[in-house]
Amino acid sequence: MCSRLPDHVKVSFEFFPPKTDKMADSLWTAVKRLESLSPAFVSVTYGAGGSTRERTHETVTRIARETNLKAAAHLTCVDATRDEVDEVARRYWDAGIRHIVALRGDSPESDGVYRPTPGGYAFAADLVEGLKKIADFEISVAAYPEIHPEAASPQADIDNLKRKIDAGATRAITQFFFDVDCFDRFRDRAAAAGITVPIVPGILPIANFNTAVRFAGMCGAIIPPWMHELFEGLDDDAETRKLVAAMVAAEQARALAARGAEDFHFYTLNRADLTFAICHALGVRPKTPAPQADATA
Ligand code: FAD
Repeated sequence: MCSRLPDHVKVSFEFFPPKTDKMADSLWTAVKRLESLSPAFVSVTYGAGGSTRERTHETVTRIARETNLKAAAHLTCVDATRDEVDEVARRYWDAGIRHIVALRGDSPESDGVYRPTPGGYAFAADLVEGLKKIADFEISVAAYPEIHPEAASPQADIDNLKRKIDAGATRAITQFFFDVDCFDRFRDRAAAAGITVPIVPGILPIANFNTAVRFAGMCGAIIPPWMHELFEGLDDDAETRKLVAAMVAAEQARALAARGAEDFHFYTLNRADLTFAICHALGVRPKTPAPQADATA
């Protein structure tokens, strides 16, 4: 494991809107613990087809109201007209939310084929352009070191990222990945295409390996064979799985840091434990006393 870390590591955390009171309690416990690490921002996802429109809004605005965190809202193009998406964005602006993570989203249809909604924003680049016309939002977009599964070619995917930046996005957050070399090559290709905004690696701490495999299958991320080997035999051993997961993600994050990455975005899955530990390994420590970890988590 490398020891040299950049001086100015910045982290951000992603949450999803809770469905039940119990889920809301665990989200809030995670938010409070991770708040102590003074992240650059936290973001809240938008469910497929806008299914969490209200819950995302509620969660983002509650974070903004009740914490010192800068909250960002994810927003997608799926199943909504431009007017409807614009209305959601205006509500965010009026509520004081200044940062949108602008995404195309995926098809809610059973065949999985994405079809733009008539009268809607077709792709994320169109959404970024539309948002910039509404207000001067800070905008982050998605990037894919292992290439988006629907991209015509690796270059077409980079060209698409460039379009999103040219439309006004100032940060790209990557899909999760585990191959650090692949991220390096992606950064080089982005730089060659004239992309100069930060490309922030998305880190997925693996709370449950089988779920991570399922996620990866859906979004085209690659789980390398060595990870299957590491997690083999741990399906019924949550404690060891968690320790292995922390080791994998901490090694990945520190390897990225050693190659110059300074910003990290964590897919927290609404849990603080692994993310907090990996931040610790990156040298990111509480600036205010952290609420104690839940020993039962
Ligand atoms: P785009 O940038 O629009 O690209 C989608 C695909 O279309 C790419 O293959 C691209 O190369 C291609 N393409 C783009 N423009 C054109 C064009 N004009 N003609 C032909 N092809 C084109 N999903 C959610 O539903 N909710 C979330 O909250 C959410 N958060 C995410 C956060 C991050 C950090 C990431 C990485 C992903 C997130 N996703 C979320 C998943 C995302 O919606 C999917 O990966 C989706 O398939 C692509 O979204 P995009 O914004 O990258 O799309």
